[in-house]
Formats: sequence, C-alpha cells, structure tokens
Amino acid sequence: MSFRFTTHHEAGRARTGTFVTPHGPIATPTFMAVGTLATVKALDPDDLRALGATMILGNAYHLHLRPGDALVREMGGLHRFMDWDGPILTDSGGFQVFSLEGLRTIDEGGVDFRSHIDGSKQRFTPESVMQIERNLGADVVMQFDHVAPGQSALDTSRDAMERSLRWLERCRVEHARLRRDDPDAPTPDQALFPIVQGGIHAELRQASCRGIRDGGDWIGYGIGGLSVGEAKPDMYAMLDVVDDALPHDRPRYLMGVGYPEDLVEAVRRGVDLFDCVAPTRMGRNGAALTRDGRINLRNARHRADPGPLDDACDCTTCRRFSRAYLRHLVTADEMLGLRLLSLHNVHFLVALMRDARAAVADGTFDGWSAAWLDRYLAGERARGSVARPVLPHSKK
Ligand SMILES: [Zn+2]
Repeated sequence: MSFRFTTHHEAGRARTGTFVTPHGPIATPTFMAVGTLATVKALDPDDLRALGATMILGNAYHLHLRPGDALVREMGGLHRFMDWDGPILTDSGGFQVFSLEGLRTIDEGGVDFRSHIDGSKQRFTPESVMQIERNLGADVVMQFDHVAPGQSALDTSRDAMERSLRWLERCRVEHARLRRDDPDAPTPDQALFPIVQGGIHAELRQASCRGIRDGGDWIGYGIGGLSVGEAKPDMYAMLDVVDDALPHDRPRYLMGVGYPEDLVEAVRRGVDLFDCVAPTRMGRNGAALTRDGRINLRNARHRADPGPLDDACDCTTCRRFSRAYLRHLVTADEMLGLRLLSLHNVHFLVALMRDARAAVADGTFDGWSAAWLDRYLAGERARGSVARPVLPHSKK
C-alpha cells in the first residue's frame, strides 16, 4: 500500500499531518489548486512548485468530455500529460453532472446528461466513473455521488445521501476490480475516497458517516455538498457533526470550499484538505486576496498605489509588482494581469495553510486563527464584500 497518514501535532481539533501518496507526501492541512482541465488556469507547473503547491486537482467530468480520458491515458496519464509529478486528486464529476439542471435525468443506475460542450448524449454510472478516473491516473479518486443543493429539504437530502451510499458500494467493487484486472494503469495504486453527504441535516450527515464506515476501511474521506448555497453557520455546524463521526486517523477533504475564512474555520474543525476554483477565478476577475480581505484592482483607489497586494506576502507578484501596475494590466485586459493575480491568490491560500500548520505545531493556533479571522473579516466588512453569490464554487 502506497498510502499512509500520520498526524504530528494537535491544537483542539486542528491537526498537522503527512499524507503519503504514490507521487509523494503532502503536509496537511493543505490547499489544492484546481486544475479542472489538466491546467491550473494561467499557471505553469513550475509556478505551482515554486509557490509551494504539493497536491493539485483534476476533474473527471471535464477531462472525460475533453480531451477524453482514453487520450489522457494514451499520453501516459494525467501526471505525464500535464507534467505534474506531484500528487493529484480527481473529482468524480458528481458535482458537475448534478449542476446541469434541466440537462440531466437521474435513475438508480446513473445519470444521463448532455455535454455542455457539444450537447452530445452522455451517461455516468459509478462503474464508468471509476474507469474514467482509472484512465486519468490520479493518486486519489473520488466516488461518484449524488449532490443535492445546499438548502434541500430533508427528503431530498436523504435520497441523495442514501443513493450516494449505494453508489459508493458499486464504486468500491469496480475500483477493486480495476486494481486487479487493469494493473498497467498510469497509477496502479489509487485511493478511493467516499463522500459524506446529507445537506445541512445533522442526522443525515451522521447516517452518511455510519454508512460509509460500515462499507469499508477507507484511506481518506471526502465531505461534499457544502458551500453550495447554505448559510455559513450551517456549514460549520455540519463540519462539527462530521468531525465527531469520522475516524481521526484519516485525512478529511472538504470539497470545493476555498474562501480563506472557511479554510481557517474548517481547520479548526479537523479538516485536512481543501480545493476551490475561487483563487484563479478571482484572479481572472481582477480580484486579489489580502490579509485585510478581498480587494478589486479595478477600483480607482489602487491607481497610483506603489505598494504590493499584501506586504506580508512573499509571492513573485508581491515581491516585484505594485498595485498600480497590476491595476493597469487588469484594466487593459493584459494576459499578464490575470496570471500574476492567479499566482498571488493560489500562493495566498497555500501559504495560509502553511502558516496554520506552523501555528498548530508551535501551540499558538487558537490565538493565531482568532487574530487572523478578526483582521480578514474586518477588512471584508469595511469593503462591504461579505455578500456571496449563491453558487460560489461551480467547478466549470
Ligand atoms: Zn502575493
């Protein structure tokens, strides 16, 4: 077995650890940059290595449609295809397929949907998704799950959660079969992570965790269906429930959650892995993360500002370029602008998790996290930027 998770330090429920995968170790907690289409938008793998990224994410739905998982496999698998030799996790496509409201129909066997690219008819089943993820060759592969909207009523959330459990068993059987019958896959030893569902209903989250634990001994656990429109206190409450109901000696991955305050709150609640498209998407929209909240460089007040985006940030963008220059690039729609902002934003979250690890290790995490949140949220309130879109993390 190529996988191992060891915890080192604890501060309340926060912990540091090392998650070993076939493509190397990951210090946790960590933020994974999202490379939906086998590229973290605007960033070269060298950039990612330089800013300290260790594990990145790809997406089965998108890569199956384009360029096709069979082609990726023919080209040696995702690691070789995109020249990233570190750990990779692939999302199963459940979130994307269930986001195709009106374009998909669900039955117990799987989901029929139309491609968002060319309208072609497609079908995902737990078995077909395991084959797609086998072909892509990530280290960690997520189960195919049924994702319900964040504020779904009890019955809807229960149906999705129970179907996810039934699909998990089918994923487990197929994953084991492929490991046995397809030993020449790009990454022979892959870890299958189940996904905890249940919306914002504590009893369903507990039932989901019980069902998952009854179904096998898993290398790690995904927590899905959060940050999909529910209120933040509801999300944090669900993390409290899940923390109690999952084994503590395995990594937990909170899917699609990547606002800085959510990362800090979730680390406090025992989460180890995160991903979100927000940092690169924000970069393309001219927005940057700072310790004092998000800023938008299109705002005129940055016009003649000689300072960096964040004077404590040690990324390439902040070491070399002023807000005035970055604002100029953004307003002129120069490619370099979105690249430099994406670089900074991904670095910001990777470094935030590095600082969280250091604080847990030296026993200062409680004070550090409280001070960090106070400062960040005060800046957000001052700019009136606390309001959120309803679906902040669609992985398109
Ligand atoms: Zn920076």
